Amino acid sequence: MKTYNLASSAQGWASKISELLKQVLGTERFPVDIVTLAQEYSMQIYPNEPIIAVQGADLPGFEGALYRLKKGWAVFYNDSIRSKGRIKFTLAHEFGHYLIHRLDHPEGMQCTSQDTVRWDSAYGLIEQQANTFAANLLMPFDDFRSQIPATTRVTLDMLSHCADRYGVSLMAATLQWLRYTAKRAVLVVSRDGYVLWSRSSEPAFKSGVYFKTSENLIEIPSTALPNRTDLLVDGRASIQHPANVWLNEEVQEVVLMADQYDFAISLLLLDGSSTFELPEDDYI
Ligand SMILES: [Zn+2]
Repeated sequence: MKTYNLASSAQGWASKISELLKQVLGTERFPVDIVTLAQEYSMQIYPNEPIIAVQGADLPGFEGALYRLKKGWAVFYNDSIRSKGRIKFTLAHEFGHYLIHRLDHPEGMQCTSQDTVRWDSAYGLIEQQANTFAANLLMPFDDFRSQIPATTRVTLDMLSHCADRYGVSLMAATLQWLRYTAKRAVLVVSRDGYVLWSRSSEPAFKSGVYFKTSENLIEIPSTALPNRTDLLVDGRASIQHPANVWLNEEVQEVVLMADQYDFAISLLLLDGSSTFELPEDDYI
């Protein structure tokens, strides 16, 4: 089986195209116009098999797809999805499959919401690569760091600003921020009172703060915001929990949104700065 080098495929492609956009568009390159980019860039580098269509389609059970056509490729998103940010991420994910995986998948691919929404290592390598490509193309770390420095304690407004800047969902922006922040923070996705999956920032993980959802069924605290819908305003709220609620230390919980997906998203912000340095380069 062919093995891929993540750095030279997903990250390599994303930084190459980001550089190009920076040169051509400068500070006006955000949000990335993925529809035009996918078609024009593929025509430039692979004129014999460009992406010739990017559009919505009836894709029950799938978030997006890459299909082979007679003279090129088509990228589709599920047209029942209303979130523009989610669609943009899906299109970038499929563009990543086109660049990195089309030779091994000559007829194309279909991707579920699990493939594109959850950036988790439990999922296949090629889905991870497509997500890494999409995240780094739409939200390059150099620009993200200039918006929210790694040592800044984040607020919901800051993350909302970045979600708007990059045209992605608040969750996608938060997941990308978690990949470089020097702060301890954990994103927890839950449904019906149980943790579905979570993602810790590197400093949080290294301080032992993470949830082992693959081994245990973890119930969220009764006072956690997903259980306190009375406190939500426009699907958002923030609350300070004492120790021994979420963790054995104090936690600020921010609920990102509750209506766009059928799950709740809590961001847990912890005090205390990291005792180690994170590299400036992308470390994933
Ligand atoms: Zn995929």
